Formats: sequence, structure tokens, C-alpha cells
Amino acid sequence: MNVRCAECSQLFSLTTHLWRCECGGVFELSERPPFNKDKIDPKASTLWRYRAMLPAIQPENIVSLGEGGTPIVPAQAYGISFLAKLEFLAPTGSFKDRGTTVLVSFLKELGVTEVVEDSSGNAAASLAAYCARAGIRCKIFVPAGASPAKLRQIRAYGADLVPVEGPRENAALAVQHAAQRSYYASHVYSPLILEGTKTLAYEIWEQLGGRAPDAMLFPTGHGTLLLGAYYGFRELRAAGLIEKIPALHAVQAQACAPLYYIYTENLSELPDIPQGETIAEGIRIRRPVRWKALIQAIRETGGSVVTVSEDEILAAQRALAHQGLYLEPTSAVAVAGLRSPLVRPDDLVIIPLTGSGLKTPPLNPNGLP
Ligand SMILES: *Cc1c(COP(=O)(O)O)cnc(C)c1O
Ligand SMILES: [Zn+2]
Repeated sequence: MNVRCAECSQLFSLTTHLWRCECGGVFELSERPPFNKDKIDPKASTLWRYRAMLPAIQPENIVSLGEGGTPIVPAQAYGISFLAKLEFLAPTGSFKDRGTTVLVSFLKELGVTEVVEDSSGNAAASLAAYCARAGIRCKIFVPAGASPAKLRQIRAYGADLVPVEGPRENAALAVQHAAQRSYYASHVYSPLILEGTKTLAYEIWEQLGGRAPDAMLFPTGHGTLLLGAYYGFRELRAAGLIEKIPALHAVQAQACAPLYYIYTENLSELPDIPQGETIAEGIRIRRPVRWKALIQAIRETGGSVVTVSEDEILAAQRALAHQGLYLEPTSAVAVAGLRSPLVRPDDLVIIPLTGSGLKTPPLNPNGLP
């Protein structure tokens, strides 16, 4: 299997230790196996039931903690009913496990013994857990100001934390330097992450009895869940199993909304926006690396990009908690984006609830972390 540079189309083997192209472009898979419903493994309740549709990995190298297969329950907000897909029930408390199980299984197959990463949140917690399971050494470069609840979780799994002083970019530079000798297991750059997140679409299709919803809303930073869902639904459509891909809506925090500017102002470059403060720490992303693919997916499906305020995020978090669903603020962002005319009254809407409220950072009196 190969990866292709999204900018210059150069091909590399999937086994490359390069994490992006020499030209700076991001990698995508050059081909993926078509969806075939007869190849679903009915005995597996994890996302490995779709193993035939995932990169080939020997069974003994699959590193699984029971990810995928999350339930769907009805919920509502602002008088609008929707179906909530409980991604926060994943083994490490966020949807990140979908991508991590595929990436770490692949790394085990490759014989990689040490990885580095520069997230300080759910991606790092997920990577640390799966590396612990796989016996792979995991080193996380942590930017100053990372959330203590998540750092505690990362450390508990036995990962090495390497604090990096200065702005967030310093941690990225440190990990890129370390990646010259180790493997950069990046949630952002590895195209294998999207192979895991695409199973969200397959599961929804199965759980709805063989149909797609009309619309979905995602809390969007780098957009790995939205883009994965897009690929998954696209494969279902190519297999003739659905007619239409749902409208995929990206919801961003007003304080950090690069996709919103690109979408509404039709920009052809990433805008240089300031790193605004937001309680939605998981989507505080100034430069989403797959922004071109994301904007294309959003436009093609009739989706949109909307922003929500800090108050709206907190109100959505509260509204869902009062229905028994405890979310971290980042996850509540998608619910806060629910409104007409984004969704029409009869639409079947699904919102993945991406992260557990148990990870919520403590609030200071302003309501900000
Ligand atoms: C990472 C994360 C997101 C955002 O995912 P992207 O792939 O960056 O768009 C949303 N919610 C939670 C809880 C997350 O951990
Ligand atoms: Zn390139």
C-alpha cells in the first residue's frame, strides 16, 4: 500500500518513516479497499469487524482495547432532536481511539519500538494507552499549559512526558526533531488515523439499519473525525449502499475558527489567525493541516462551517448533562452548533459526542481554563 502527497502527488510506501512529503504536503492513502458488507466480521464487536476494509495487519499484531461499537441514544438541544453517538465511551474516553488502534497496530506490524508525539490532550492519552498495550515506548512532547487531567492520564499509562517551554509551536518543533530518530505517531499527519475514523460511518450505517443520516455535526480542529466519516460514507455510496453522503457540518469555537474564515470568505490560503483562548481545548487548532480536503468534503456534502461562543459551549454542555450525558467542553461544541436552518425539522441528525466530561479542565471564575 502507498501514500500519496496531497500537494505534489509523489508516492511513498506506507512503511515510510517520513511523516509528510519533502514538499511539505500531507500524505493520504493512494487507494483503499472498497466497502463490502459481506466482509464484515459479525463476531467482532469492535471496529475490527471492518478489518477487511482496513489496511492489512496480521491478527496477532492487532492492538485493541475494545474501541468502536459505541451506542446511539436520542437526545435534544434547542428543541431539536438528534441521535447522539457516544464516542466518549471509548477505552480512553475519546473518539481518538478509533484512529489510534489502526495506527498502533500498523506500527506493531512494522516492528516499531518507540514513537514520539506532541499532543497534550486526548490524542496523546490514546496513543499512550495503545502503546502501553503494544509494548511500544511512547514519548510525548508536552507544550506548557497543557491540561493537568489529561497529563495525569497520559503519565498513568507509562508514557514519558517531555515538557517544552514557550509557545505551542516549540513542542511541534521538538517532536519533529525527535522524529528524525524515532517514529512520529501523529494523529494529525498519519493517514492511518483516517482509516480508523472512517469506521464511524460504517457503524452508523449498520446501526440505522442500512441507511445514512441527513446531517452530522462535528467539533472540528484538524477534522480527523469529519474527514474519516466522509471517506466512510463515500465508500458506502460507491458500494451502492447509500444514495447520498450526509451534510457534514464543522463546528468551531469563535475564538479559534480558521475553517470558518476559509469557508465563509472563500480563502485559498490558511489565514494567520491568533490562537484565541477557548474552553474547547481539543479544537484550539490554528492551522488544520488537512484543511483543503476538509473544505472540499464540507462543500461537496452540502455541509457548512459554523462558530459558537464560549457561553454557548457551556450551555450545551449543561443541556446534555441534564439529559445524563456528561461531555468535555470540546465535545459540547458540536451540540452548541445545532440550529435551524443548519438542520431542517425532519432531518435525521447524528452528533458524535467525542469526549468524556471526566476530562473537563477545572474552571477559573471566568469560566475559562
Ligand atoms: C481531538 C478532539 C476533537 C477534534 O478532533 P479533530 O480531528 O481535531 O477535528 C473533538 N473532540 C474531542 C473530545 C477531541 O479529543
Ligand atoms: Zn509533495
